[in-house]
Amino acid sequence: MPIVQHGPRDKKRIALTFDADLTALMRQRLQHGKVKSYYNEALINELRAMKVPATLFLTGMWMEQYPDRTRELAADPLFELGTHTYDHRGFTKHCYTLGTVPVADMLADVRRAVDLLDKLDPHPTRWFRFPGGCYDGTALHELAPSGVTAVGLDVPGADGFAKSPKPIIKQVLSNVRAGSIVVLHLHGGDNAPFTDEAIPEIVRTLRARGYTLVTVTQLMSD
Ligand SMILES: [Zn+2]
Repeated sequence: MPIVQHGPRDKKRIALTFDADLTALMRQRLQHGKVKSYYNEALINELRAMKVPATLFLTGMWMEQYPDRTRELAADPLFELGTHTYDHRGFTKHCYTLGTVPVADMLADVRRAVDLLDKLDPHPTRWFRFPGGCYDGTALHELAPSGVTAVGLDVPGADGFAKSPKPIIKQVLSNVRAGSIVVLHLHGGDNAPFTDEAIPEIVRTLRARGYTLVTVTQLMSD
């Protein structure tokens, strides 16, 4: 499977990307009312208000939970959608605490998410992101027939379990450069509670520095 880590370093363009994780455990927390939602609607509203193009990587389970949201995001020309596996397990043996997809199941897992997206999104988006950014040669080999291209974590945005917007803003603004792909999260809830509050300052500062914000497709095309 091909993989891209960043765009051209000689053009002042940056791609903001947002992953929508949903694991079996997160779904339980939703079902038991411990979390109200794993859709950070305030974040999408900010992106729309500031007209920020973005690439969103959705897990299959998230699309099952939020099919109408997925259709709505797919229909918005600001956004392009990619996949983030079915249920956010790891594609290497030790990927944080994400668990592991057995090698024999890797291709079916990724195809399951792509099939779900194809039912909800008429665009032929083929970007994919590994949970936790974990992959190795075996995973790339197994997933070669899937037809997706992996998008790496050039600048991790540090919004997971953040305690305030400040460290997110600092992490992004001090690490981006021309061609960067920034990884933030769309699921909000208890897992990424401050992404929406961090985004206005990030966007304003990057634009003041002369960067154009683009989708991954725009970043990778000349
Ligand atoms: Zn993720």
